[in-house]
Amino acid sequence: MDVIPEILKNVIEDISSLPGYGEKSAQRFAVNLLKMPRKDAINIIKDLSLMLEKIHPCKECGIFSEEEICPICNSEERDKSIICVVEESFDAFAIEKTGKYNGLYHILGGRLSPLEGITEEDLNISSLLQRVEKLKIKEILLATNPTVEGEATALYIANLLKNKDITISRLAYGLPFGAILENADEFTLTKAIELKVKI
Ligand SMILES: [Zn+2]
Repeated sequence: MDVIPEILKNVIEDISSLPGYGEKSAQRFAVNLLKMPRKDAINIIKDLSLMLEKIHPCKECGIFSEEEICPICNSEERDKSIICVVEESFDAFAIEKTGKYNGLYHILGGRLSPLEGITEEDLNISSLLQRVEKLKIKEILLATNPTVEGEATALYIANLLKNKDITISRLAYGLPFGAILENADEFTLTKAIELKVKI
């Protein structure tokens, strides 16, 4: 007998439609919410709803921001001749935390992954090329994750830019291969920025 309430089924179906969430993790999420004090659980949902209302990718660099143009793109203090290219906003947030980088960012929104069917059209690559022209960029720091796919993505972009008069560098390997940038500790990430290598 199927006695799972319809509402619960819908929630689990909704959550498991998110990339990276299977049915089991969706069930766990729903059960944990239901077991919390209702007030706290409703707070989480309110925050989620506010996030969806207020947070959008910056129109210039794609970083998640409350403003149409993020504080970094808007700042007079940043070096607007260099762009650090990352996979996701949280990679940029991690680099920002080190305080060692003062240029702009560009959020790709993922990395090339033939296995998952993610191609260059799925990433913010054409907007990167447009910004390079528009802002007369002198240096590109490729800070995709040091994974096979992150490397392939960095090489792909380096290739697109190779005939332009731009210095292209890659984060140095203080980072363990296979690491995810947003999880790297601050010291390692600081070193990786300081010791960036030309490619
Ligand atoms: Zn921005």
